[in-house]
Parts: sequence; structure tokens; C-alpha cells
Amino acid sequence: MPGFPTLECHVSLIVQKFGGSSVSDAEGIRRVAKRIVETRKAGNDVVVAVSAMGDTTDELLDLAHEVTPIPAPRELDMLLTAGERISMALLAMAIKSMGHDARSFTGSQAGMITDAQHGSARIVDVTPVRLREALDEGAIVIVAGFQGFNRDTKDITTLGRGGSDTTAVALAAALDADICEIYTDVDGVFTSDPRVVPLARKIDRITSEEMLELAANGAKVLYIRAVEYARRHNVTLHVRSSFNNNEGTIVYNPDAPIRLGGSAAEREENAVEDPMIAGVAADLSEAKITVVGVPDIPGKAAQIFKIVAKTNANVDMIVQNVSSAATGRTDISFTVPMNDGHRVMQALEAEKDDAGFQSLQYDDQIGKLALVGAGMRTNSGVSAKLFGSLSDAGINIEMISTSEIRISVVTRADSVTDALRVVHTAFGLDAEDEAIVHAGTGR
Ligand code: ADP
Ligand code: ASP
Ligand code: MG
Repeated sequence: MPGFPTLECHVSLIVQKFGGSSVSDAEGIRRVAKRIVETRKAGNDVVVAVSAMGDTTDELLDLAHEVTPIPAPRELDMLLTAGERISMALLAMAIKSMGHDARSFTGSQAGMITDAQHGSARIVDVTPVRLREALDEGAIVIVAGFQGFNRDTKDITTLGRGGSDTTAVALAAALDADICEIYTDVDGVFTSDPRVVPLARKIDRITSEEMLELAANGAKVLYIRAVEYARRHNVTLHVRSSFNNNEGTIVYNPDAPIRLGGSAAEREENAVEDPMIAGVAADLSEAKITVVGVPDIPGKAAQIFKIVAKTNANVDMIVQNVSSAATGRTDISFTVPMNDGHRVMQALEAEKDDAGFQSLQYDDQIGKLALVGAGMRTNSGVSAKLFGSLSDAGINIEMISTSEIRISVVTRADSVTDALRVVHTAFGLDAEDEAIVHAGTGR
């Protein structure tokens, strides 16, 4: 009524995502169903994005590769999306058996519209008409993660490995959810992978900027595209365990207009307390290509990286050696995802004479370590400490690159685990007790 304060009854909308390790068997499905029902009983509308059970996606991939070494991308997406269809239906059944209305939807039924890039499609629009209808009718909505639909080809797509995270974030943005909870098999985001660094410490809150760097450098607890999407659409994430009720990690954008709760003074204090280093991640999925004997004249680097760009491979680190005065030639090394490595090698080999380099070397036994922290902007001496700790441990550094809030180094693949632990300790990140990993195979 105009002029009168209204007592608005605000029903929260919560998006919850459950990863494969949380729904690895019938018992897991029932456990997760119970948790969803509890959220519903507390008076919230609930939309769930669910991953395929356990290692289903990897098993389906293995199967496809047993049938043919290079599976057709369209058919591979058809195959892989079956995984999420199984878990969504089982989860809806389990919830219904507990006396609550639930309805499952495939990605295309949920209005998850993507581009046509099979295997790594990007979400271009979300039209959750059917989800809203189901919510209005009081149902709990279950959506198959990781999948979408392209309007032009009318085909089913997948969003890239780990893509159920993106599904959840996109749903949270489209439905204007109050929070997006990512349930997994560890208690939140840690200062390093707790499976590799037992003394990794749970982080209470982390900026989306730092989380992006960690995710981009191998911390698979969140899929990088999901973090990007959340940052762009101001979705706050809560990463937590589906095996207990502990508070997890809040991933937030400090620049967003709607900030995390608390008074301005409290937020200021929190900001001051933010540690200099957020965490350290490792990635074993890249390979190093060295182009040997490149003529040291203007335009050669441009020519080489134009060839690489045509393959659509993502180049990460680049190092150019000092050229030798005697030969007037230099070597250029760079890293690319291993999956793209052979394509890049073929493309370069094909243009060898034109580009004028002498030979190519391929090395897939490298590991990349990345130290991440917004505090690097204002603290000097971080690189000295990083390189010092690695040298004390006898670990050789092969390449270095930096961004404003990250330092990355390439080492031999078999030293990267040691490197992680050493650096974690050197930067004072070690916890007193070992972290608990509740489930999953880490595959
Ligand atoms: P889900 O099946 O729930 O999607 P994932 O296996 O994709 O789970 O991600 C959770 C795993 O991510 C953890 O079990 C852990 O081994 C790994 N991980 C890597 N880096 C980190 C990190 N910094 N913090 C927490 N977990 C991490
Ligand atoms: N099931 C898919 C995968 O294993 C998507 C996901 O779990 O996020 O990559
Ligand atoms: Mg995941």
C-alpha cells in the first residue's frame, strides 16, 4: 500500500552445484538429496546443477577412445552429456521419494544456449522459462550440468571439463540467485591442492581476481570459466564440502556494487587482513616447444606466433634467449596445452623453411607452478623469496613469467610436487593440521 512500509516476505533463491565426487553412488545421491531438501525446508527456492556420477565422464571418454582414436566432436558431446542425464534423474527421484516435488531438466530444456564449439562451448544466453515455471509451482529444480544447446546447429554441446561449475554460475546469474553454492569433496578453496600439499590451509574468503589466477593455473576446485562468469555477473560463490556443514570459501568481487555483508569498517578491516599470498597452484598439462635457430631479425617472432595462433592453441609462457653474435640466431621457447602440442608442432614444421628457423624441440615433461596473491602489487621481494626457496631445494627453474598478481615458473614435471610444498612452506602458508579430502579419486 502506498505510503506504508511493507513487510516484504523475501524468499531466497539458492543455486547449489554438486560435483561428481558428491554423487558417486546411490548413497551419495540420497545424501545430497537430503541436503537439498533441508535447504528447501528452510524456506528457500532451490535450483541444483549436478555433475555426472564419480568418474563417469572420464570413463565415457576412455570408452570413446577405445572405439576410435579421434572421436567425432558432435558425437562425443552426445555421449558425455549422458553422464549428467543419469545423475539429474536419480537425484530428482531421490528427492521425490522424500516427499518433495522435484523436476530434472537437460541443459537444452533449461535454456542453456551456447555457441557451436563442441567440447568447450561458451554460454551465450540463458532462457530459464521452464525452470521458473517449475519454481513457481513449488518444485525443486535439478539441471544437468556441463551441457548446452546451439540454436544454429540445433545440437547438444558441452562446456569444457569442470563445466558444471559454469552451469551453476550461469543459472545463478540468470535467476538472480542470492548465492551460488559449489559443493565438492574438500572444505573449500585451499592455499594449494590438499591432495598434493597435505598442510594446505582453507581460505575463508578470496577475491575473484585471485581465484581466476589459481583456476587458470591448475586449481581445478573451480573451473576458470565459471569464475570469469561469476566475476562478470557479480555472482558471489560459496565453495564448500557436501560431506559436512562447515563454512567454506567465499569467492567475491571487491569491486562489485553489491558487496559482501558487514559494515564499511568491517570490510576495511577484512581487506587489511587479506594475506599477501592467496595460494600456489600447479599444472602438469602443458608442453614446452622450442624453436631453435630463429634468425634474430625484426618480424621473426611475429611470424612464428602467427603460425601458432592459426592453430587456436593458447600460448602461455614465452622465453627468447639472447642471440648468439656468431650465428645471428636465437631460440624461442613457449608453452601450450599438451592437447594442442602436436598440432602446433605440425603447423610450425610445415612453415619451417619460410620462417627460416633450424629445428623444433618438444618437451612434455614440464610442470608449471604459479604463486598468486594480490599483495604482490605492493610487496617487493616476492620473486626473490620464491626463487630462493626453489634453489634451496635444488629445483631448477626453466622459465619464468609474471603478471601483476602472479609469478609462474616452469620446472621438470617430477619436481613440481616438491616445489609446491617447498614454496607453500616458504610463504608461511602451512596449516597446523593436515587437510581432509572427503572423497573422489582426484581424476
Ligand atoms: P567436483 O567433482 O566437486 O567438481 P573437482 O575434482 O573438480 O570436484 O575439484 C575438487 C578437487 O580440486 C579437490 O578434491 C582437490 O584435489 C582439487 N584442488 C586443486 N587445487 C585446489 C585448491 N587450491 N583448493 C581446493 N581444492 C583443490
Ligand atoms: N562431468 C563433467 C566433467 O567431469 C563436468 C563437471 O563435472 O563439472 O568434466
Ligand atoms: Mg569440478
